Amino acid sequence: MARLTVISGLNSKSAAIFLVEAGGKRILFDFGDGLEPGEHPDISGLGAAEAVFLSHAHSDHAGLLSRLEEIGTPPVFASARTLGFLNGSLRPELSHAIPERGTFSFEGLTLSTGRCGHAPGGIWFHLATEIGGFIYTGDISLESRGMPLDPFPRARTLLIDASYGDRDLPLEAQIQAIAEEAKNGAVLCCPAAGRGTDMALAMAAHGLDVHVSDVIFRETRMTAGKTFPVVDAQSARPDQVIIATESNGEAGLSADLLVRDGFRFIFSSHVPNGTPAAELIARKRALWMPWNVHPRKRDVVALADNCGAERVLPAFVDMTTAPELARALGQRLTLDTEMEI
Ligand SMILES: [Zn+2]
Repeated sequence: MARLTVISGLNSKSAAIFLVEAGGKRILFDFGDGLEPGEHPDISGLGAAEAVFLSHAHSDHAGLLSRLEEIGTPPVFASARTLGFLNGSLRPELSHAIPERGTFSFEGLTLSTGRCGHAPGGIWFHLATEIGGFIYTGDISLESRGMPLDPFPRARTLLIDASYGDRDLPLEAQIQAIAEEAKNGAVLCCPAAGRGTDMALAMAAHGLDVHVSDVIFRETRMTAGKTFPVVDAQSARPDQVIIATESNGEAGLSADLLVRDGFRFIFSSHVPNGTPAAELIARKRALWMPWNVHPRKRDVVALADNCGAERVLPAFVDMTTAPELARALGQRLTLDTEMEI
């Protein structure tokens, strides 16, 4: 018998931590930290785990690695690329690379992975169980140009990224709007290990003269085999289209350029309170424009249909804000925090 206990991340935009007990083992899917300043998940009652499986390197999925000793210092499994992004926050002897696409065993459990379409090296997980299988998607997207989403195997229980709730606008329309807004120069802010490559490729495809920060230079080379001219805090000019980390102006080149005059900023991520982005947007000194890196309503429903899920647990969204998604999922919608899987 396998059992799921949601520690954090179901029915709210919050840290991802999901406990599965199966075959006498206790394993965690993701070990993330909170998104808002001062917000941290309560792991006091979690107890020891035998392993942590990470979907990708973003802090709301991997940000608690500094607190591994509180759960018995278990080994951490992630793709080689994700482990590369986590370099420095994880002791090498605890790091174990797993395939981005494939099947492997852990202590008698059979797991499969596939690429998630949301972040370089990011993966979803399938766990074989006696009552039909379980999928944990981590963060996923079907609309990335540079990062594919591998199809899910069949599973009775689907714990799926539904961050956008009822949002259904296609990425292509969003790209068109941002390219129009950025054509005379803008800083497009993005997280490391995220949408940076897609942004550079899409803006270049719209004929814009794209420049990138050093972080995004390395990502576009690694992910797409393409390079763009690099600018830094001194050489960047306001009339350039610049793809830069971090996503809310809190660090990296985007933070450096905030202290110089004349740059226009376009943010597109989740904006936590207290970040430079939140303040600038509130004062109408910067724009927020959507760029899908999570599934739209139609995607969540199609993925649930395709894998034959009888129970769908929507992660990273407050379902009171998503009545259309709730209606579309119907009887499959499940908000229980403990269940056999
Ligand atoms: Zn993410």
